[in-house]
Amino acid sequence: MARLELLSQQVLAVMTEVGQEYSKYQQASGLLCRKGCGECCRHPGIEATVLEMLPLAFQLIDEQRADQVLIDLAEREDERCYFYQSHSDDGKQGQCSVYQQRPGICRFFGAAGTTGRSGETLLSTCRTIKTDHPHAYAETLIAMESSPPPLIRHGQEQIRQLDPELSNSALPINQALTAALEKALFEQQYLIAI
Ligand code: SF4
Repeated sequence: MARLELLSQQVLAVMTEVGQEYSKYQQASGLLCRKGCGECCRHPGIEATVLEMLPLAFQLIDEQRADQVLIDLAEREDERCYFYQSHSDDGKQGQCSVYQQRPGICRFFGAAGTTGRSGETLLSTCRTIKTDHPHAYAETLIAMESSPPPLIRHGQEQIRQLDPELSNSALPINQALTAALEKALFEQQYLIAI
């Protein structure tokens, strides 16, 4: 198996394992996402690294969708994630159409930790979750010292270690996928040629 394809499998394994830690924290704290909510996926500012997008790139190649997705992405002006499927007129209800291969950053959303200016751990969660679960939110804040949330940057670092060069910058999610697809396709074409 060629280098990037093998790397993509390693990335998927690490993202899946690390993602479970965030999911467990979210479940245990009771800060659950509203059913069918797609608010965070439709945010135009989501960024990912090329490395995180490799599993999805190879999945699209396997499904023979890579060329069409590249054309669509090149023509697309909307910066929101190409793979978000809206189920409501206002776009707020929807789902991820590539859930198994979604990048690491999408696995760390929900309820996780960030680091404040003085080095303190802050709880990162969305307005909808706070509104839906005010008591769980208050209790989670009280329990922060004894039971801190997993830090988003720790998850990102575990993925980054697999290939720092392909993780050296975060790009808008559609751009990161374009770059990952181009690299994956180049590797596949090179293998066919030799
Ligand atoms: S890849 Fe899936 S989970 Fe991530 S932003 Fe796009 S639609 Fe949402």
